[in-house]
Amino acid sequence: MQTSPAAASQASRSTRDKELRVPIIQVNGLEKTYRTAHGTINLFERLNFQVEPGEMVAIVGQSGAGKSTLLHILGALDAPSAGTVYCASTNVAQLSPREAAAFRNREIGYVWQFHYLLPEFTALENVAMPLLARGTQKTGVPGDRSSSLGWKREALAVASNWLREVGLEDRASHRPGELSGGEQQRVALARALVNGPRVLLADEPTGDLDETTAGRVFDLVERLHASHGLTSILVTHNLDMAARCTRALRLEGGRLSPLGTAHLAGLQSGSD
Ligand code: ADP
Repeated sequence: MQTSPAAASQASRSTRDKELRVPIIQVNGLEKTYRTAHGTINLFERLNFQVEPGEMVAIVGQSGAGKSTLLHILGALDAPSAGTVYCASTNVAQLSPREAAAFRNREIGYVWQFHYLLPEFTALENVAMPLLARGTQKTGVPGDRSSSLGWKREALAVASNWLREVGLEDRASHRPGELSGGEQQRVALARALVNGPRVLLADEPTGDLDETTAGRVFDLVERLHASHGLTSILVTHNLDMAARCTRALRLEGGRLSPLGTAHLAGLQSGSD
């Protein structure tokens, strides 16, 4: 397959990341405390972990273990209570809300169990949305009609390439309600990656799909991870998928521990 300009640029950034030989994610002494009417929840036991550029790491664990919270903290959607969190060379805990939004838009591709596509927009417009948001941030657009129109045209062209990458170029004008669950998730993946992020954070991205469709979406995640030189963290309950990642970690009792291939095989036949 021909390499797109976006893929080439991401791959070259990834090569640079690897050459720098520094972890792209570095978490030290992470704690997260929620104070609720029913008491205090301490989610992490001074958590430490790091991820090298290009790794595809699975995180498994019981519901309520803190997997989503960990992704939210890495993606600057939530703040740690203690510790330091570097993601894509950025100390995420120190970002202002405005900086956090720009950081997410630039460096993080996020996909969730549900696609969260905007129902009134077409697949193409949904994919272009982060680019359009970025253009508005960049130009502060109001009044600058010609540059805004040029940017929009460019954004739609880039989004169209992404729809092709996820095999949905013939669905560009379809609204989310006219797409199957697997197609919706493929559009969501294209939208997550359209800005050329270095890090993909995926929270149960196939959790709402039947087994066959889930397998196809995971194949696509694997392919995009490799072809765009991404570093990916996937929360999943699917141990077959976890076993296909470069590393699998189990989050339990506030700690992360490595899961080897033998352990994964054992878990598959037991409960989780
Ligand atoms: P997982 O993704 O592993 O299922 P979560 O990260 O969603 O777990 O949640 C971990 C725990 O933190 C849960 O017990 C949940 O009740 C609690 N929690 C998450 N967010 C909040 C919040 N905003 N306020 C209070 N408790 C929360």
